[in-house]
Amino acid sequence: MPTAEPREDELVGRARTVLAPLGAGYLDEIEAIYTDLHRNPELSGQEERTAAVAADHLEKAGFEVVTGIGGHGVAGVLRNGEGPVVMLRADMDALPVREATGLAYASDRRAVDDDGEEVPVAHACGHDAHLSSLLAAATLLAGSRQSWSGTVLAVAQPAEETGAGAPAMLDAGLYRDVVKPDIALAQHVVPLPVGIVGHRVGPMMAASAVVRVRIHGRGGHSSAPQATIDPVVIAAHVVTRLQTIVARETDPAACAVVSVGSIHAGTKANVIPETAELGISVRCYDTALQGGLLEAVHRIVTAEAAAAGAPREPEIEVVEGVPVNDNSPADTERVRATHQAYFNDGCVVEMPLLAASEDFPYFGAAGAGAHYEGDPVPTVYWVVGSASFDAWLSAPGDTPQEKVKHLPVNHSPQFAPDPRPTLLTASEALVTAALTHLASPAH
Ligand code: ZN
Ligand code: ZN
Repeated sequence: MPTAEPREDELVGRARTVLAPLGAGYLDEIEAIYTDLHRNPELSGQEERTAAVAADHLEKAGFEVVTGIGGHGVAGVLRNGEGPVVMLRADMDALPVREATGLAYASDRRAVDDDGEEVPVAHACGHDAHLSSLLAAATLLAGSRQSWSGTVLAVAQPAEETGAGAPAMLDAGLYRDVVKPDIALAQHVVPLPVGIVGHRVGPMMAASAVVRVRIHGRGGHSSAPQATIDPVVIAAHVVTRLQTIVARETDPAACAVVSVGSIHAGTKANVIPETAELGISVRCYDTALQGGLLEAVHRIVTAEAAAAGAPREPEIEVVEGVPVNDNSPADTERVRATHQAYFNDGCVVEMPLLAASEDFPYFGAAGAGAHYEGDPVPTVYWVVGSASFDAWLSAPGDTPQEKVKHLPVNHSPQFAPDPRPTLLTASEALVTAALTHLASPAH
């Protein structure tokens, strides 16, 4: 019978066997996949080409592949005897960002977004690194079936940036019709030095919601303000007053962010417009607190419009939202222990809470009942450093927190992972984490 909890040294030994082909030649191949994906980014929901690349590689590696799950979602299944079903997930989508890295393989792609606007597109969040590493890990595991037992479910997920991709894949039957995993694993690149793997037990990334607000006023000539109700002034009050939600309404021991990231009104200096639109981002690490923050946004926007005598109530809509990324404690400790045993001393670090967010938690407890049936699937999520040593060493500051402030972060036009060492560590981290939860081979 396969044993469920192999000892770490035995596990690291098997990991070295599985990862043995990951030499310079194979890294060239992974890097070629990465640069191809990087050159050809696709917006959330438009990942047709990227999904085809994923499906093709998984099929060639011997996985049974299902495509078109919840949009462009791809699932590959590799059954290899008795043992747990371990899901490895990578996201595939890029961002409407004009790449300014100056790299030889930088993207010059443009696409039409959901609002009908033509926008530049770039892999500014590193999802191309996630997918390349997933395909590498899947291929390595498929090539070493004598070293493990169980089932690997490789998932290439669309539309992570909108928070819609994970629930869409689940709603389309990923767990019901393909296979339900016993554990789901995922990783993200961050601007820490290459070679670093960061873990955190419990909540790791924020619950996030995007609120879109349209304030209605009454337009007119700027020379006759008494005949108008100025939505620009209402919007200005809203922006200022929203700052008090965190400063005055939230327990200082809790963490919360309310940011107005977009504000649009008017076309001309001497015309008072009819409407003003705000895009508001709300983040925290607690589902109940998130409800309170959203209620406060609603109350303030409505009251400021009423205070100005707006002719209509504002429209307030939560357009995107994802739950807290909450790492299952015991399973995360197991993966961390394997990573500590496998990687060099000092490479595995404890992560602080991250204010960024993820739709990955839907694959775990946050999706149970709402997006799939049965017991919640435990999840483990970690981060992998992608900043080159040169960039890290030359960044000013003595602490990681200070240095990160001076490095291009995810979503920046300058975000540029150092590909080779990033892909190496990410592939190793995924394979070793998978082996931690797969069974030992039957003897
Ligand atoms: Zn992102
Ligand atoms: Zn991302």
